[in-house]
Order: sequence, then structure tokens, then C-alpha cells
Amino acid sequence: MNGEPIRKIVIVGGGTAGWMAAAAIAKILGEFPGLSIQLVESDAIGTVGVGEATIPQILSFHKLLEIDENEFVRETHATYKLGIEFVDWLRPGHSYVHPFGTYGLDMLGIEFHHFWLRGQEAGETVPLDPYSIGAAAGRAGKFFWPQLNNPRSPLSKLAYAFQFDARLYAAFLRRRAEAHGVIRLEGKVIQVHQDGETGFVESVELEDGSRIEGELFIDCSGFRSLLLGQALQVPFEDWSKWLPCDRAVAVPCTLGGDRQPLTRSTARPAGWQWRIPLQHRIGNGHVYSSAHMEQDKATDLLLANLDGEPLAEPNHLRFTAGHRAQFWEKNVVALGLAGGFLEPLESTAIHLVQSSIARFMAFFPTTAFGEQERLRFNRDTRREYVDIRDFLVLHYKSTERDDSEFWRYCRNLPPPDGLAEKMAIFEGSGRVVREHDEFFTEPSWLAVMAGQGITPKGYHPVAGMLDEAETKKRLEHIRQVIAQAVSQMPTQEDFLQQQGSAI
Ligand code: FAD
Repeated sequence: MNGEPIRKIVIVGGGTAGWMAAAAIAKILGEFPGLSIQLVESDAIGTVGVGEATIPQILSFHKLLEIDENEFVRETHATYKLGIEFVDWLRPGHSYVHPFGTYGLDMLGIEFHHFWLRGQEAGETVPLDPYSIGAAAGRAGKFFWPQLNNPRSPLSKLAYAFQFDARLYAAFLRRRAEAHGVIRLEGKVIQVHQDGETGFVESVELEDGSRIEGELFIDCSGFRSLLLGQALQVPFEDWSKWLPCDRAVAVPCTLGGDRQPLTRSTARPAGWQWRIPLQHRIGNGHVYSSAHMEQDKATDLLLANLDGEPLAEPNHLRFTAGHRAQFWEKNVVALGLAGGFLEPLESTAIHLVQSSIARFMAFFPTTAFGEQERLRFNRDTRREYVDIRDFLVLHYKSTERDDSEFWRYCRNLPPPDGLAEKMAIFEGSGRVVREHDEFFTEPSWLAVMAGQGITPKGYHPVAGMLDEAETKKRLEHIRQVIAQAVSQMPTQEDFLQQQGSAI
């Protein structure tokens, strides 16, 4: 760029990342005079075909795009999601929910869980789930919208996300992006042309010899990382030491089993299996470590644990946990799998696309690519990856499982520094600490630390001000209030029917 504003944005790739970027950029910058946004994708290559569970932040992305929720749910065959159920992660036979939203009701100005810990000390054995409206409703198969303007209602503590058909979601976003002027080009990129001096990307060349020129390129080419990784040679920072799973096998199946508004993750001998129930089918996959399990065995294990009949041949995927050393290099910004990958244990990848789009829009270059802005973008994006990585490692590290070589490796692995400190503080005093504007909030850390069996030695002294009998009485009252609220909620199926968003 020579002091001229950006006129041509080229997005390479039309998976979830590409169409999210196209829809958002067109919505924000679409009215900019003379700006063109082109997206090139290859039907022959296709998309990764997975990525169907989300977290509540997606609601703000939909708000930005002014998406009508009922229309979106109907068109993407989506279901609601109140959290993730972790089965067999602590030990076989055990299960807990990491709910969205918070626990309990407000008590004496300190976090609810200190009273829960006080109750445990006094002999209570009820786990955290019944104190969360999200976990309780999720387990009961119920759904209703949060009542945020009524803080006295347990429904004010509810938060939700969606589970949707990835292919339909990309198509849904495509329609919105095209309505805002995005031009879609079909074709396979075979070469990336760079300026001989600066190394900035000038154009991408398609198989038919045509060139698409631009001033800014968004690399959404998936694991290939065509521009950032291949053309600009930005190296990959490998985190497989902490997250050894490097394969997945995915297969959709017909509906069967329960219809809870929860994603389920079930621990397996060399990884874990996901279950994502949609309106018309269930998405399933087995994430595993190839150092600890052969592909055939991993596939058999998945197929033996479906709630319905398989609807397609198993889709095998390979990956490495980690990210590119820079996400924004020269005039290329990578989103989605082109920038990095963290296994979908907490359904965070689509959010990473969304937050990178928001961050880049905030730094969108006016007439030049600012170096300070680029460094800051890369630092903040990496920080988000680190936050998520540490949270994922917690699930593997804090477990009683030692029934396979994989689990023995995971539980004996020294955790990253930030995580080690968090675990030690929770274990010592029941305090949940959260750095800076960290991605996962205190209730999330609590859910997984407690769910994975970390037992604190203490709790906040304020919780000790109530005597044992009063503590138990109040805890029981909270459970009752939540159970009562859940009993009045419709089932998810009824809710979808009532909203006209059932397919
Ligand atoms: P892709 O879907 O791979 O899209 C790449 C695009 O680039 C395609 O359109 C392709 O045609 C195009 N392309 C590539 N090369 C060329 C070329 N040479 N010329 C032209 N076009 C090209 N995320 C979640 O948030 N929740 C989940 O539950 C979840 N589960 C996952 C499970 C697994 C096993 C994996 C691997 C990922 C999961 N993810 C999940 C991540 C999620 O799938 C991705 O973040 C998301 O789909 C975005 O992918 P993408 O658009 O970056 O890449």
C-alpha cells in the first residue's frame, strides 16, 4: 500500500471462517465507497466439514450481523446448547456439566462456590450441577431464553449457544455476505504472487490462469494455510507436548438417545468422543492421539458408540495443536484453521474466528499497515490461544484416570505455568483467579476444576460466618429454586416448535 486506502479485499477460502469474515466485513465496511470484497473457494477441495458446537459469544456475532435467531436456527437445523457434559473424564462412571452462565444465587457478596465448599466440609455431597440452571436444565432436556432483566429469577443466570450444521451455516452466511455485495469466485488457487521487494501478496492465481488482485488478503484456506503458512512461510508453533491428540474421525448419525441441549464429550482410552445433537442428525467424532491408538481402532470405537445409524463414511482428519507464529504478517491475516488449531474440547475455534475478525476490524488499516497494530493484534490473538490451551490442558491433567498409557502421559505432564498457579490457588484456598481479560470466566474454571476432582483445602472466611445448619438450609433452598424453575421450562423440542424454528 502506498498511502492509498484499501480498495480490494480478497478472502481465500469459503469454510466457516471465510464466510464469517465475508459476512462481517461486508456488514461493517460494505458501504465504504469503492471497496470490493471477493471470496474465492474451491468446491473440489471442499471444507473441513466439522465444527458444529459453539459458545455463547456467538450471540454477539449474530447481533452484529442482525441475524434473526429463529430464522438462523431453522435454516441451519440448529439446537440450543447450555453447556458441555464431560463423561468419564475424572474416572469411568463420573459425569459433570461445564455450564454456560453462573452458579447459585448471590450470597453475602462473595462467590457462591465458597458456600458450596463450606457445605461440602459440613458433609454435603451434592455436586455443583444442581446449583447451575444451565446444567440442571441441560440434563433435563429443557430450554428457555435467559431473563436478564429479572435478576431475582434463576433464569437470569442462564447463558446459551448453538449447535448447527456447519455446511448450512456457511451457506446461511454466504447469502448474507452476497446480499452485502461480496463476490464469490469458484476456483482453485494454484499460486500466490508477491511483491519482489516487500513480500506483500499482490494476487492469487487460479487454475484457469486468472488472477485475483488485492491490497488485503484474508487467509481462510484451512489447514493448508496457503498464504500465511505456504507463501509467507510463517512457522507453526507446536503445542502437541501439552495437547497430544493429533487425529479425529467424524461421522454423523441418525437421531437417537436423549435430546439434551448439551454437547457431550466422553473420555476414551486415547482421547475423547464428541456428540453434538442437531435437529435432524447427531454429529459425532473421536479425537485421539495417533501415538496411542491406531486409526482402525479409533474408528471402530466411534462406530460402536453412536446413538443412531451412521449417515456417511467416516471422515479422517489430521492436525497438530498450536498456531502460526504470527496471525497477521505483511498484508495477510489468517483466520480459522489457517492460523492455528486447538482441539474442539470446549468448542472454541469458531469463537477464535469471530474474535480475530473483531480485533482486526478495530485495527483495520486506513492508509498503511501499521506495524504496532500488527504486533498488538498478534500478541492479543496469541494470548487468547494460550488462555484456551491452558483451560484444555486442565481437563487432561487433573484426572484420576490411569487406565491407559495416554492418560498416564496426560496426568503426569507438567502443566503450563499459568495453569499450575491457578490449580494450586484453587486447591489451597478455593479461590478462582482470572488473569487480565481472560477468555474463560471464573464459573468455567470452577466447573472444570471441581468437575475434574480438585478438592480445595479451604474457602473464603465469609462463607464460614454461616453455621452448618444454615449453610445446608440455604444450599437446599437454592437447589429447590433452580429445580422449580427448570420444571416450568419447556423441553427443547417444544420450545423450537413454539418459536417456529423447528424444521
Ligand atoms: P475449512 O473449513 O477447511 O475451509 C477452507 C476453505 O479453503 C474451503 O472453502 C476450501 O475449499 C478453501 N481452499 C483451500 N485450499 C484452496 C485452494 N487452493 N483454492 C481455493 N480454495 C481453497 N470448531 C468449533 O468452534 N466447534 C467445534 O465443535 C469444532 N469441532 C471441530 C472438530 C474437528 C475434528 C476439527 C478438525 C475442527 C473443529 N472445529 C470446531 C474447528 C472448525 O471446524 C473450524 O474452525 C471452522 O470450520 C473453520 O474452518 P476453516 O474455514 O478455517 O477451514
